[in-house]
Amino acid sequence: MKVSKKVAGVEYAIRDIVLAARKVQQKGMQVDYLNIGDPVQFGFQPPDNVKQALIDAINNGENYYSTSEGLLDLRQEIAKKENTKGLSISADEILVTNGVSEGLDMVISSIVEEGDEVLLPGPYYPPYASYVRLHGGVPVEFAVDLDNSTPDIDDIKSKITSKTVAICLISPNNPTGVVFNEKSLRELVDIANQHNLYIICDEIYDQIVFDEKFVGIGKVAGDSPVIVLNGFSKVHLMSGWRIGYIAFNNSPKLDAIRENLPKLARVRIATSLPIQHAALESLRGPQDYISNFVSEIKKRRDLVVKRLNEMPGLSCPNPKGSFYAFPKIEDNRFGTDKEFVTKLLESKGVLTVHGSGFGEQYGSGHFRLVYLPSLEILDSAMNKIEEFVSQ
Ligand code: PLP
Repeated sequence: MKVSKKVAGVEYAIRDIVLAARKVQQKGMQVDYLNIGDPVQFGFQPPDNVKQALIDAINNGENYYSTSEGLLDLRQEIAKKENTKGLSISADEILVTNGVSEGLDMVISSIVEEGDEVLLPGPYYPPYASYVRLHGGVPVEFAVDLDNSTPDIDDIKSKITSKTVAICLISPNNPTGVVFNEKSLRELVDIANQHNLYIICDEIYDQIVFDEKFVGIGKVAGDSPVIVLNGFSKVHLMSGWRIGYIAFNNSPKLDAIRENLPKLARVRIATSLPIQHAALESLRGPQDYISNFVSEIKKRRDLVVKRLNEMPGLSCPNPKGSFYAFPKIEDNRFGTDKEFVTKLLESKGVLTVHGSGFGEQYGSGHFRLVYLPSLEILDSAMNKIEEFVSQ
């Protein structure tokens, strides 16, 4: 039977590569999984008060359909969080979603028509391109200086056409760990305003920064058409519970989307009500679990970046946030980045993701690894990568 071309074209390298790892494991080799950005699979857990809030919600009978936009108390708490980052919004500007992933789908489907172009930071987190294509649009990558954590403003300007509808930002970034500073964010907002473009800013890693204070897009948004995507999978260690949100800035330019996008939320009915109660507790309760988590993974980042930069033929910019390193493969002895990753997996059992899975244009010649495993596992994986590149 026929399937649509749209769906046949969807790719997600981070999960697709797992099929190759399973084959290696079936042959009896142990695999170090450095491919998936899920802290909860590496021993981090939501705190007990958050788990208890979920259990209590279930026991208290909160097992029915939520309103489509989400619990008022939760939306108020989310608005408060986004306002501390610089926005000036109320609960009415928040829509609770089944993760950032669903929020992204809703936003892209609300703004993209056949042939419309969406600017993405290159390399990009794959669902951005997938959803743009799925909804008939064309992803266009702009260059980012990975060493200096800055977007290439001239490159962006040169790529804006009459078809461009939005600029997407992911800061802190997956797969590069780049965090944009205030000056860069201001420049990006200015360009968007000049060309009447939406700014869609994914801040799912907003509290996972290591060296500098995080600045959110809210700080420079003013009354620009900024849409923030955020969620509870990373910072709040609730990946499997699937909850996130869309925050609309207070901009008259967003009136049409603010009115129309919630229809999509109503069509899909709601997000899980007990999980919303847990998310509320994760914002209201003690926050020290976040700083403990971040200081733990900072040690892991430091180890991985140091080790990678000592290896022949690899160089790795220092990721300022999130939990990914994106080393460059300086020599082409191994063939393409996909061949590098496959050979590393098959010969040493270390699973990473090829950079071109994050866009050919800027991702090729790199690979991405997740530094969430314990220091012992990371050290051992680094030994294996070192042996591999030294052979
Ligand atoms: N946005 C970015 C930049 C991500 O890296 C990820 C997960 O890796 C997601 C969104 C997915 O978020 P969620 O679990 O809320 O759907």
